[in-house]
Amino acid sequence: MTVQLGSRLRDTRGRMLRDLRISVTDRCNFRCVYCMPKEIFGRDYDFMPHAMLLSFEEIVRVARAGIAHGVHKLRLTGGEPLLRREIETLVAMLAELRTPEGQPLDIALTTNGSALAHKARALRDAGLNRVTVSLDSLDEATFRAMNDIDFPLQRVLDGIRVAQDVGFDAIKINTVVKRGVNDDDVLAIAEHFRGTPVTVRFIEFMDVGTTNGWNLDQVVPSAEIIERISAVHPLEPLRPAYRGETANRWRYVDGAGEVGAISSVTEPFCGSCTRARISADGKLFTCLFASRGHDLRALLRDGCTDAELEAALAGIWNARDDRYSELRTADTPTERIEMSYIGG
Ligand code: SAM
Ligand code: SF4
Ligand code: SF4
Repeated sequence: MTVQLGSRLRDTRGRMLRDLRISVTDRCNFRCVYCMPKEIFGRDYDFMPHAMLLSFEEIVRVARAGIAHGVHKLRLTGGEPLLRREIETLVAMLAELRTPEGQPLDIALTTNGSALAHKARALRDAGLNRVTVSLDSLDEATFRAMNDIDFPLQRVLDGIRVAQDVGFDAIKINTVVKRGVNDDDVLAIAEHFRGTPVTVRFIEFMDVGTTNGWNLDQVVPSAEIIERISAVHPLEPLRPAYRGETANRWRYVDGAGEVGAISSVTEPFCGSCTRARISADGKLFTCLFASRGHDLRALLRDGCTDAELEAALAGIWNARDDRYSELRTADTPTERIEMSYIGG
C-alpha cells in the first residue's frame, strides 16, 4: 500500500483545514429553546431514517480523507451524539487513526450530558480524549425550561461528575446565554466550576438556522459576561492556546482556573476558522451558516476510492470563501441549516 502524506489545504483566504466536526445523528432528546424549538421539532418532525446516516465505516473514511489534508482534531456532535447506538464503537475506530506524522488524533465529543453518567466510562475506554457538556443553568426551573422537556438538572451534574471520575484529558462546559432567560445564572455557573479543572465557556446566542427566533436583543455580549464575573472574581485575559481557537480565554487572578467566551456575534473569528462540518447524512459544510452542503455520502455510496474522496475534499476546501459572522447584517439571507442538523 502506498502511504499518501497528503497536502495541507488552504482555502481562498489562506485558512487550513484542521478540525472536523462530525454529526452522528440529527435526533435529540432535548428541545433547547435556542436550538430545537418544540413548535418546529414536534412529534411529527421528520428526522432522518437510519439508512440515510453515514455508517461508522463511512465516517471513518471521511475522517481519513480529512486527516490526509491536515485535520488533527475530531469532534463528535449532533443532535445528541450519545443517542447514536454504539457510539463508543465509533470512538474506538477513530482512535485507531493516525496523522501522516503518526500522531493519534485529538477526539472530543459535545453532549447535553443526559446520558453521560452511564456512557462516560465506555467512551473514555474507547479512546475519547475530551468531553464538552452543555449546561445552561444551575437553577432547576430555568434548566428545565431551557431544555424544554423538563429534564432534571441533577442527572446532567451526575454525568459531569462521572466524566471527572473517569479521567478525560479535559472537560468543558458550554453555556449558551440568552438575555432575560439565563443571564442571571452566569455567575453561579462560573462559581460552581471555579477552583476545578473544568472550564466553562459562555456562548453568545447565535442566529443558526431559521427556527430559533433569534434577534440581537437576546444576545448578551461576552464582554458583559466577563465583566459580571470579573466584578466578583477578578479575571485577566489569556492568550489563545492555539491559532483557530474559538473561545477567548480568561484566568482568575487568584489562580482558581479559567473561563472562556465564544463571541461569534460580537467578535467574529472567521479569519482563523479551520473547521469543516459533516452532517449526519454525509454532507460537508464549510461554514456553520452555510445554506448548502456537499454530498460526500453520494460519492461514498457510488464506490469512490480514497484518492477520489480526498480530491473532492481538496476541491471543496480550496474554493472555500466563507466568513458569515464577519458579514452578518440584519438582512443576511435566511436560508440556513439548523444547528441540530449540521452539528454545533
Ligand atoms: N446535543 C449536544 C449538546 O447540546 O451539547 C451537541 C449538539 S449542540 C447543537 C452543540 C452546541 O451548540 C451546544 O453546546 C449548544 O448549546 C450549542 N448551540 C445550539 N444552538 C445554539 C445557538 N443558537 N447559539 C449558540 N449555541 C448554540
Ligand atoms: Fe439537543 Fe444540543 Fe440542540 Fe439542545 S443544543 S436541542 S441538547 S442538539
Ligand atoms: Fe467559521 Fe462560518 Fe463561523 Fe465564520 S461564520 S467562524 S467561517 S463557521
